[in-house]
Amino acid sequence: MARDPKYDVLFEPVKIGPKVARNRFFAVPHCNQAGSDKPGVQAAFRGMKAEGGWSVVCTEYCSIGPESDDFPHTSARLWDDGDVINLRHMTDVVHSHDALAGVQLWFGGGFAQGLESGEPQRGPSEYPNENNPQNYSHACTVAEIKEILKLYAEAAKRAEQAGFDLIDLIASDSHLPVQFLSPHFNHRTDEYGGSFENRARFWLECLEALREATGGRLVIDSRIAIDELRGPDGIELEDGLRFVELAEREGLCDAWLVKVSTYNGWGNDSGPSRFFKSHNQGWATKPVKEIAKGPVVQVGRLTSPDDMVQVIEEGEADFIGGARPSIADPYLPKKIEEGRPGDIRECIGCNVCVSRFWIGSNLACTQNATAMEEYRRGWHPEIFTEAVSPCSVLVVGAGPAGMECARVLGLRGYDVHLREAEAEIGGCVRDIMRYPGLAEWGRVITYRESQLEKLKNVEVHTGVGAMSADDVLNYGAEKVVIATGASWREDGLSGVSLAAIPGADASKPQLSTPEQIMAGKEVGDRVVVLDADGYFTGIGMAELMADAGKQVTMIVPQAQASYYTVYTLEGDNVQHMLHEKKIAVMPFHWAEAIEAGNVTTVRAFNLYREGYRIEMPTPAGRSPRKASDEVTEVECDNVILVTARRSNRALLDALEARESEWRANGIEGVYPVGDCYAPRILQLAIFDGHRLAREFDEPDARTPKPFIRERPIWGQEAMPRL
Ligand code: SF4
Repeated sequence: MARDPKYDVLFEPVKIGPKVARNRFFAVPHCNQAGSDKPGVQAAFRGMKAEGGWSVVCTEYCSIGPESDDFPHTSARLWDDGDVINLRHMTDVVHSHDALAGVQLWFGGGFAQGLESGEPQRGPSEYPNENNPQNYSHACTVAEIKEILKLYAEAAKRAEQAGFDLIDLIASDSHLPVQFLSPHFNHRTDEYGGSFENRARFWLECLEALREATGGRLVIDSRIAIDELRGPDGIELEDGLRFVELAEREGLCDAWLVKVSTYNGWGNDSGPSRFFKSHNQGWATKPVKEIAKGPVVQVGRLTSPDDMVQVIEEGEADFIGGARPSIADPYLPKKIEEGRPGDIRECIGCNVCVSRFWIGSNLACTQNATAMEEYRRGWHPEIFTEAVSPCSVLVVGAGPAGMECARVLGLRGYDVHLREAEAEIGGCVRDIMRYPGLAEWGRVITYRESQLEKLKNVEVHTGVGAMSADDVLNYGAEKVVIATGASWREDGLSGVSLAAIPGADASKPQLSTPEQIMAGKEVGDRVVVLDADGYFTGIGMAELMADAGKQVTMIVPQAQASYYTVYTLEGDNVQHMLHEKKIAVMPFHWAEAIEAGNVTTVRAFNLYREGYRIEMPTPAGRSPRKASDEVTEVECDNVILVTARRSNRALLDALEARESEWRANGIEGVYPVGDCYAPRILQLAIFDGHRLAREFDEPDARTPKPFIRERPIWGQEAMPRL
């Protein structure tokens, strides 16, 4: 299909320093944990964005020397020729798709861990690291400042050798250049401290050093947090603009990648959809564009082509920047260009991708199961191998895993029947999208629903009720996928004790599961949410209840409510929300019993109530710590049990018990997928559905095929060969 002319403006070429980008789509720097050590994954992941139409594609933050070492987090590195070779692979792949390759040069100042190199970092002043206060920066001398500038210049030369077209100086996120600019960090009294001009000097000299090192052949741009969102204690909008003016006056910066906030306030920039709408940074880019001669890049989870056109036509920016939109759909530009914007797999703003940075594993995406699997499993987000022996497949359950499995099986040419007991597809997401702030998560359903509708070989049957083993055996399908999901437990069992809580029984009127709440089960005025899960469901229940005017107490075994949202960048604002909505939290507590009655009592105990000394040799039959029966009685009207989930495997068990009848009924295999195999987060359930469908032809499709691991092998060449 032809592209809609209203989107033509998005495909205009843009001059950027000495280069020209062929359109306005700019894949901004973001982490993926490949760094320079996994060149295959790195090149294929970034290259896919270039293939999908992003005209500029950047690395994550890239350390310029061992002193700027963020281990255990993974940055790219340009420390030596080995890094040059590995990143060269990425630039070659990006260039093969007619895109520009960018690298984001990084020196953390007091914000890197130094755990691998063991080196303290130099900063403008001595201060403890905000996140690791035992680490201090060293207040550098003027001579040391010049050494750091040399490190930048050497890294820039290596960047050019590696084939990069564009060098982005990261001066946002509390890293070194902004540490010099900000009086919050910079307490110097020499020519690098005091007045605004003095504090700006280091950043300007960095830009100059990068330009000189690359002789005007490469684009030199800077990422700037135009407003750190911490008021007069940090860089405010007028400070940010003043710096842009200075740099523009000296012609030092070819383009500006604008963002907001600080390293610790990252969640106010990569805003989760729970708290931030997309297209929320026009106010930050427009005044920069009014000053800058070169192009300006805007971010803010832009996935709607109409919003993108507005960004350009209203003079907010020149480039549509995308980190998460380019992860969820690397083919986003191409889909607009080909006149099929309805096929865009829109980011849901869950920030599971970011959570992987914090917990130290590969990036993964809820919406795009192929992200980071392009090289190691050979998965392409838009290309699917034809089924070797197409056959009829019954998929029981249209939740996240079932929908994804049916979609990919359909694309591969299988004859698929997707059957859902309820009136609509979506499974657990139908409830989740009604939790406060999570409406955008409904895109998990809408994307798949629209794609399934286009597949003539996939029939979706809804409202069919629960299928029995007899129903499945008599259905006539050659292969059966069981995707019946999981349910919240009614007995209070959790990871705290792996035992039911005495008195916990959600069939009683005083106790509920989240599903019962969403189905409308009545609750009284005082509600206790028992949340051992620690992610979005517990706070979803608590906020829902608070919004309904209830008095809410959360009892959680962890140090804080909803601990996992710290990793998804929702954590800070979740805590603000709990405080603002007067939701009380009892951390490090759990329930030893619940007494349901006219007044319901939760007998809550502190997880650390036993003594701190361990008796040795240990006594038989009792805890070796000093016993305690101390409890806090919490009175309420209702308890919501967000304790653990249980696989809905009754159908699977019944079918497996009748395996001897499969062949006679024409069934070649039965495959559990997603939460019905083991409960997990949405991203992993969708991944499982996708994985099974990709490998459905394999003799043992239940077992994932091995993937390529990039690691050195002692005394051997790297395997596999690049
Ligand atoms: Fe978007 Fe979530 Fe995917 Fe990240 S993980 S790109 S926030 S859908």
